[in-house]
Amino acid sequence: MKYNCDLISDLLPLYKDDICSEATKKIVEEHLAECKDCKKMFADMSDVTIDENIAKEKDEVINSQAKFFKRKSAFAGSIIALIFAIPILVCLIVNLATGKGLTWFFIVLTGILVAASLIIVPLMVPENKMLTTMASFTGSVLLLLGVICIYTRGNWFLVAASSTLFGLTMLFAPFIACRRPVNAYLKNSKGLAIMVAYTVTFALMMTCIGIYTGPAAFFPLATAIAGPLVGMAWAIFAICRYLKMNAAVKTGACFTAVGILSGVLSHATAMSVANTSITGVTFYSDPWLVLMLSIGSVGLIIAGIGALVGMFKGGKKNENK
Ligand SMILES: [Zn+2]
Repeated sequence: MKYNCDLISDLLPLYKDDICSEATKKIVEEHLAECKDCKKMFADMSDVTIDENIAKEKDEVINSQAKFFKRKSAFAGSIIALIFAIPILVCLIVNLATGKGLTWFFIVLTGILVAASLIIVPLMVPENKMLTTMASFTGSVLLLLGVICIYTRGNWFLVAASSTLFGLTMLFAPFIACRRPVNAYLKNSKGLAIMVAYTVTFALMMTCIGIYTGPAAFFPLATAIAGPLVGMAWAIFAICRYLKMNAAVKTGACFTAVGILSGVLSHATAMSVANTSITGVTFYSDPWLVLMLSIGSVGLIIAGIGALVGMFKGGKKNENK
């Protein structure tokens, strides 16, 4: 053999990764053909690569860490659940002993459920922690309202529940839409889905309030006010999200939409107030109408300037090409 085994074993990693010169390659190949020991060393090397080992070790460390934290958080969750069980048990016994059956105990129970949904659920749930916590929190708050309403013999549950649902949707919808697994379904329609959720829960809330306060007086006026306002929110969303124009055009378009819809709002409100039996309220529609339509016109001017600037810039770009 021309070269000794130590030299070849130094070269083998370079040979294996194919980062040596043709001359070195030739030397190593000639040696491997003659030397059984080095051939075996090379075979071992190709079999289990160092990279694979490192990757495997890394996965093992991450997995064992994750398991450790899961066990820890499940343990903490169990302890907190035990602590929560103490007042539940006390109230159960006291309520049974002092009253005729269970009454206010259910308020304590559902109240603690609300706290548990925020503290214990995220500790115990293995996947989709955020989504499950938000869902269990919303559910337990609605349950608490229901129980209190039954206990106090109220008829306000739908108003309270729908308002709570609307408020929590305002808060949670953006987080839910951007999180797995919901974001995979929504893809590029997250904004649209959030707006739909807002509109649906808002309509639900207004319907419940209307039924509670008396539909005849509520709905005409509420529709006159809420319709243009919801329209404004949708117009601004649609302009910002879908209009493929520069910022000035978008700003101008938003101004125009808000101006026009505010005009509609003031006019419709004035009409509704005039048609209802509300007395002593004078709603001056005309000055508002003029102001809002002026804002709309200013918006059109801004949008026009934006469009001109956009065209000028676009023309320059084309020239440069
Ligand atoms: Zn050798």
